[in-house]
Amino acid sequence: MSLNRQQALHDLLDRVPKHRERPSNKISEYFGENVFNLHVMRSYLPDEAYEGIVEAMEKGTPISRKVADQTASAMKEWAISRGATHYTHWFQPLTGSTAEKHDSFIAPTADGRAIEKFDGSLLVQQEPDASSFPSGGIRNTFEARGYTLWDPTSPAFVWGETLCIPTIFISYTGHALDNKMPLLKALSAVDAAATSVCQYFDRNITKVNATLGWEQEYFLVDKALYAARPDLSMTGRALFGAAPAKGQQLDDHYFGAIPERVSAFMKDFEMEAHKLGIPVTTRHNEVAPNQFELAPVFEEANLANDHNLMLMELLEKVARRHDFRILLHEKPFAGVNGSGKHNNWSLGTNTGVNLLKPGNNPKTNLRFLTFFVNTLAALHRHADVVRACIASVGNDHRLGANEAPPAIMSAFIGSQLSTLLDDLEASIKAGKLTPADKTALKLEIGRIPEVLRDNTDRNRTSPFAFTGNKFELRAVGSTANCAVPMTVLNTIMAEQLNRFKAAVDARIDKGDKKDDAILKELQALIKESKAIRFEGNGYGDEWVKEAKKRGLSNFKDTPSALAVWDRKEVAELFASLNVLTPEELHARAEVEFEKYVMKRQIEARVIGDIATSIVTPAAVAYQNMLIENISGMNEIFGKDAAALTTSQKELLTQVSEALMRMNKASASLREERGKINKVEDMAKRAVKYADVVVPLMEEVAEQCARLEQLVDNEIWPLPKFSEMLFTR
Ligand code: ADP
Ligand code: MG
Repeated sequence: MSLNRQQALHDLLDRVPKHRERPSNKISEYFGENVFNLHVMRSYLPDEAYEGIVEAMEKGTPISRKVADQTASAMKEWAISRGATHYTHWFQPLTGSTAEKHDSFIAPTADGRAIEKFDGSLLVQQEPDASSFPSGGIRNTFEARGYTLWDPTSPAFVWGETLCIPTIFISYTGHALDNKMPLLKALSAVDAAATSVCQYFDRNITKVNATLGWEQEYFLVDKALYAARPDLSMTGRALFGAAPAKGQQLDDHYFGAIPERVSAFMKDFEMEAHKLGIPVTTRHNEVAPNQFELAPVFEEANLANDHNLMLMELLEKVARRHDFRILLHEKPFAGVNGSGKHNNWSLGTNTGVNLLKPGNNPKTNLRFLTFFVNTLAALHRHADVVRACIASVGNDHRLGANEAPPAIMSAFIGSQLSTLLDDLEASIKAGKLTPADKTALKLEIGRIPEVLRDNTDRNRTSPFAFTGNKFELRAVGSTANCAVPMTVLNTIMAEQLNRFKAAVDARIDKGDKKDDAILKELQALIKESKAIRFEGNGYGDEWVKEAKKRGLSNFKDTPSALAVWDRKEVAELFASLNVLTPEELHARAEVEFEKYVMKRQIEARVIGDIATSIVTPAAVAYQNMLIENISGMNEIFGKDAAALTTSQKELLTQVSEALMRMNKASASLREERGKINKVEDMAKRAVKYADVVVPLMEEVAEQCARLEQLVDNEIWPLPKFSEMLFTR
């Protein structure tokens, strides 16, 4: 039974900020205290085991059974000292969230007592009952077994009373059933490719890590209002609602003072995040009312992603303590901005160099230019794959909605770098470079740091923007598992760098000097990938036309974007770098199509139920009030009543019309769904959902919102946007 709007609003009056004591004002005193990090390992592990783990982390070498046993025993001892009673393999199934199955450390002994037991085999591998996780057909039920395997590159942590061990999740046949395994493979591919290109510039570079700094946006809603909106609790978004009189037009929320109740919540989750070693640093209000953002210091991509997943769970948990509910959905409220998760991405070397940061001499600048231009070339070649990897039901409401990047992939690099690339393109001539050419080029390249120091260009309308020392993929949705876009970005970069290396080596073999070969190849890439560069307004209609002229894709919704996964060249891309087999890739597409259908189906059912059992009764009650009033007026005023009741009759007409349209659309919605659900092929069914079900849902929603505006405020049962967005 859901809460009534009036009760919910009443509950709000009693809310007070809930402050919690920090263990200390010095964050350094408790940062990472719940993490089995290198520092803890140093003191808990014998030297041999410690070194084995460090080597596994750095080089990916296998861990011996002995080292695993020693680590397990140290982990157990440490975790128990931190209050843990259980352990779990923590993994990332294709649902997009995380999963865990808790087991107790307890093992019974023959004499009727029990001991705490946790050994290497339990650390390294487990077999969760995994038959209900999506596999896209990889795992038939008769071989339903799936295994979780320890990922030693991401440290274990204690959460509440549980020791959590980050793991990958694979099928009995060795196929990836999760988002972490392909990410690790993509990271290893980009490491190999980037390290090999780095050899042109610096022989000391032996390892390249992809780095990720995500920015998480979210909304907060009071728990009572949330409970009174079945659509919020069932689908994560308000399926309808009249726009509030005051929205975000005053821009008075963005970077404004954080309300005290929210601030108490933020301090609380930051403290929890810090204990878990998540380096959260910034927090501020976002554009929409009741929308906020937080961001950590960037980290190695696999760790950063685990941290983002932990943080999303943490936000949920801590919000409840403060009588809030968190909305991570990409578009919880139509009419105000939605939420994204910018993925700031770069490549860092074992020598401490950020490969996308301009250097301070011609040699380091050529290295910067190499990675910079190759990133653009990778995006150009595989823009459709990048579009596909950020496709989701929620993101469909955001992309191209003039608040988030358009669905057309392009890169923004700033006017100065654009000019530089144009100049480079023009100044490198075919054939051998003359000494004069070389001087000119050196001058060009030498300009880079100067150029960037005052490069304050910001283009918020671009899906992929260079921001001085990293690229920012802005099109990722707020609920996304960053492992998916990170797998794609690092895979396409690895492929591009491998192509580049082969092309440069071929030029060298033909007699070019190394630097000349690099420059000529960069020039070719600058030319080739020019279409992907766009500095203008990504929200404008002109861009849609211009992009079409340039041959760039514009996939308007998830089902059309997902079709890319089944292209032959995409399968080859992932297979050639050993990231995903064609079978695994196809399975992923199936899972995504199915997710799309399921989510739309739930939304359609919920809006139908709301229309029938909540909005209709409220509208009918109001009709009755009007009817009673009109007939009373007729009794009293006789003939004169006609003129005196015009507004009541007008209202009655409007309510009746909206009610009729709403229920008509709702009936068609049910009927169409029935037909579409018979379509066997999941991809085709998804397209039908997008083309037929979504417009009908929107029609129902529009009439619901219309009725919300017409019906007596006193009897309207569902919290309104103005209440959910402006009350804390
Ligand atoms: P913005 O204007 O977008 O807020 P910031 O400089 O504050 O720009 O950085 C935003 C995010 O980028 C932060 O989360 C930060 O950790 C991340 N970031 C900075 N440098 C890198 C890098 N080399 N690799 C990945 N992410 C980075
Ligand atoms: Mg940003």
